[in-house]
This record gives sequence, structure tokens and C-alpha cells, in this order.
Amino acid sequence: MTAPFLSLAQIRNRLILTARAVLRDHRTDADGRCQVCRTPECPVSTAARNVIRAAEDVQAAEEQASPGMGRRLRSKQ
Ligand SMILES: [Zn+2]
Repeated sequence: MTAPFLSLAQIRNRLILTARAVLRDHRTDADGRCQVCRTPECPVSTAARNVIRAAEDVQAAEEQASPGMGRRLRSKQ
């Protein structure tokens, strides 16, 4: 890490990466239950999906506020 603080875009990207890793671990097994929690509706994967949706909503709102800016910022990372 080069700086002590992360930008909001970096924090958002890390949240998304972490949530995706959680979703990979908490996949539904053949019996319809989460292979980690063993419950039919895994609350952990629900929370991870909510994090991804919230992060994407923020990203969409930023791109609407300044079209093209989000793309330029992302390509620098
Ligand atoms: Zn689970």
C-alpha cells in the first residue's frame, strides 16, 4: 500500500471483491442449502449481495453526476 488512506473508489472496489469472495464460499449446494451455513437462505450471501448492489448504486450515481469521469478514474487503477 502506498498511502495510509484509501480513496472512496478503492474502498468500494475492496468491498465488492470481498463480497464476491463471500458469495463464492457461500454457494448453494445440490441440496439447496448454503455449503457453509447449511441453511436454505444463507443470510451471509444475502448481505454480500446487498453490499454489491449498494456499491453499484453509488457507482451509477457518480457516473450520472459526472459522465465519463468514473471511467477515467477506474482506468488509472
Ligand atoms: Zn452461508
